[in-house]
Amino acid sequence: LPEQEAFDIEYWVLEEAKLQRLPKPKPLAGRVALVTGGAGGIGRAIADRLMADGACVVLADIDAAALETAETEFAKRHSADVVRGVKLDVTKEAEVAEAFTFAAREFGGLDILVSNAGISSASPVEDTELSMWTRNIDILATGYFLVAREAFRLMKAQKAGGNIVFIASKNGLAASPNASAYCTAKAAEIHLARCLALEGAEAGIRVNTVNPDAVLRGSNIWKGEWREQRAAAYNMKPDELEEHYRKRSMLKLGVYPEDVAEAVWFFASDLSAKSTGNILNVDAGNAQSFTR
Ligand code: NAD
Repeated sequence: LPEQEAFDIEYWVLEEAKLQRLPKPKPLAGRVALVTGGAGGIGRAIADRLMADGACVVLADIDAAALETAETEFAKRHSADVVRGVKLDVTKEAEVAEAFTFAAREFGGLDILVSNAGISSASPVEDTELSMWTRNIDILATGYFLVAREAFRLMKAQKAGGNIVFIASKNGLAASPNASAYCTAKAAEIHLARCLALEGAEAGIRVNTVNPDAVLRGSNIWKGEWREQRAAAYNMKPDELEEHYRKRSMLKLGVYPEDVAEAVWFFASDLSAKSTGNILNVDAGNAQSFTR
């Protein structure tokens, strides 16, 4: 539909709904999303947010047990009709292709991809094994490429545009101590998103990036070995780290999975219809990015 016509129709549908005291349609009703790493901390919060606004969501994750738990929880919280789980390793071309075929078969297409599946690692460069370097590049940079490529193929075939959101990291913009492999892979994701925004624009495919700072709850990354390594890099104890991140933010606030989910929701919805190739930092204003 021409832009003005689509706007008019939406406007009158909303006016009509008001008149009839009908509930306002949910902004993502009828949309289908695939969230990689959807059984993990941030991915789960994103899936929850999208479902709350009416989207059907495919959780795509390498962890079969976590997938089963997440699918069961979402079926109870929302409805079994709006959630599916599919096991995939984002580094495996065939598994990625199968996950998208699964989404199209289960829900009739795909409107939104959230590329989020990830790992973390930290070590001084002189101790970084080639295998650790390659693992970061494979899962983060190449994994994001593989899922975005598959989304492009499907979205272009559907001829209805689409939305791709990358969960990168503040570490893809700002260097962080003892995390060169992770930071480099995250920088690659950010630049890949910008290249894809340029390539997708004509087909109505928008590609945006959300960059969280350290997410202080709910993520396996935050619970794991990474937290100890981060603390060591800053010469502090692991339980001092949360306060460190809060203090260094301009707003003196911590970042949580739900905050990242809100930013994703914005890019996935029509509210951001005029945004592509953009980066939204969710970091409570990381003061390290500013010169004072
Ligand atoms: P998490 O470990 O809680 O969740 C990650 C999920 O990805 C897990 O469910 C895991 O099973 C899945 N996964 C890992 N490797 C996979 C693979 N090869 N194929 C498919 N799925 C795979 O971590 P999280 O904190 O929720 O991280 C999500 C994203 O957010 C990552 O890309 C991470 O780099 C990014 N991020 C996290 C933080 C943070 O502080 N937690 C900060 C900035 C960015």
